[in-house]
Amino acid sequence: MQNTIVIIANFTDASVANTPSQIQDLMFTDPAGASIDALFRETSFGNVGFSGQVVGPFVINYSTTSACNLAAWADAAESAASAAGWDLSQYPRRLYVMPSTEMSVCGADGAAQVGGSPSRAWVFNYTAKDVFAHELGHNLNMAHAATLANQYGDASDDMSADGYALRHFNAPHMEQMGWTPAGNILTVTQSGTYTVATLELNPAQAPAPQILKIFKPDTGEYYYLSYRQPLGLDSGLRSAYWNRINVHKYTGNYDAYNTYLLALLDDAGVYSDATNGISVTQLSHTSNYATVQIQLPGGGTTTTCQAAPSVLALSPSSQSGSAGSKLSYAISLTNKDNMYCAASTFALASVMPAGWTGSVSPATLSLAPGATGTATLYVTSPTSATAATYTVQVNATDAALPAHNVSGSVSDIVQTQVVQADTQAPTAPGGLTASTVKRTTVSLTWQVATDNVGVSGYEIWRNGVRVATTATPGYTETLPSGTYSYYIVAYDAAGNHSGASNSVSLTIRSK
Ligand SMILES: [Zn+2]
Repeated sequence: MQNTIVIIANFTDASVANTPSQIQDLMFTDPAGASIDALFRETSFGNVGFSGQVVGPFVINYSTTSACNLAAWADAAESAASAAGWDLSQYPRRLYVMPSTEMSVCGADGAAQVGGSPSRAWVFNYTAKDVFAHELGHNLNMAHAATLANQYGDASDDMSADGYALRHFNAPHMEQMGWTPAGNILTVTQSGTYTVATLELNPAQAPAPQILKIFKPDTGEYYYLSYRQPLGLDSGLRSAYWNRINVHKYTGNYDAYNTYLLALLDDAGVYSDATNGISVTQLSHTSNYATVQIQLPGGGTTTTCQAAPSVLALSPSSQSGSAGSKLSYAISLTNKDNMYCAASTFALASVMPAGWTGSVSPATLSLAPGATGTATLYVTSPTSATAATYTVQVNATDAALPAHNVSGSVSDIVQTQVVQADTQAPTAPGGLTASTVKRTTVSLTWQVATDNVGVSGYEIWRNGVRVATTATPGYTETLPSGTYSYYIVAYDAAGNHSGASNSVSLTIRSK
């Protein structure tokens, strides 16, 4: 079970309309048996469920005029829950329900980290149940259920567009998650007639393999053949997917890459791949299985190079620093080609927000098949950056084989860098000295102060009163007779003030 805290976080001028008990039912305790927990337990055959708490609503100090700032909003929601006595360390899964106004602000119905622990998920369209399943699916390391035309286009899976009834997950995701046992997955290497059992059936009772895989040599991916019926909570599956062989493709490497729906075959329907000489024909179907004819160019094992998309990872998934600071991210790149391929050279390049600087060291990696190389991404935000969440990215390209190219962002949430408000004060100026010029003019000098972002100026204090500011060290003024005491305070653009410099005093005796 995945211990999950669901934090309802209202904004100062917008609230979540659903009550905590409605969200509790949706997530954990739906009396009709259709909670998100029930969906995952059913589709995973008991491997994964979500248990936990719905807390709040709390009000966080953001309004609908705030720019989309997922990390800051989550931090504020967690602070509110902690202040109310919840021990967040008990919850490796954290889901924030926030006002639906933020759908348009963030341009999404929800968002999530792909993988990670603790993991974070945000839901704005909280009346669409499948948004909860989608974002938690990302947390489990699934990417999107796509078609070639639309990254959200495969409605047979909760990792597609939302607003449909809850439904199970497609065959590539069932393998990626380890929910369909390996013994029920057959990799087809010989032409012939095969039976594929209904994907929703309990694996122990399935009359045949539930997933057939076929290697796709030109890209190193696999085809996945499966057969769906509206059983259990998969009764939410749209009828276009019933009684048909669903043809997908996926890298098959268990990483968070999109799955692609390629075809839905009715009886006598054919999917053919002329490049690789592969064809699949649905011959017949019953409620428990379908029968397919699979034609391959040959069979048996290969001794030729089969290139595959490489795998790129960046960590950590998020970190924060002051404007102008430089942060580093670890890059790992794995060459997934088979052993019959030569080594490949990858160029690594950063993709930064406007005004940011990024660099990668080393900028190239030469990797043998199966090898993993590491590099470091350095990211510097401009000193003028405002507090927000920014996306940083790395692309790995292989000029000799574009099929190798990968990017460091795979889904809704990519690696981010958060710029924090500058809360650090400058150092106190030192070395203040005062002297008189022509008896009546005071001349002050001092040493520059330093600041993590930058010193904006200096305040001149005379006899406990601020009398002037200057951008740079140095000040003169003409005064009547008297005794005067001075100190200097430095300040930065964010309004942070240093402590006082040393004090000096002097006496003026004018004629
Ligand atoms: Zn998504």
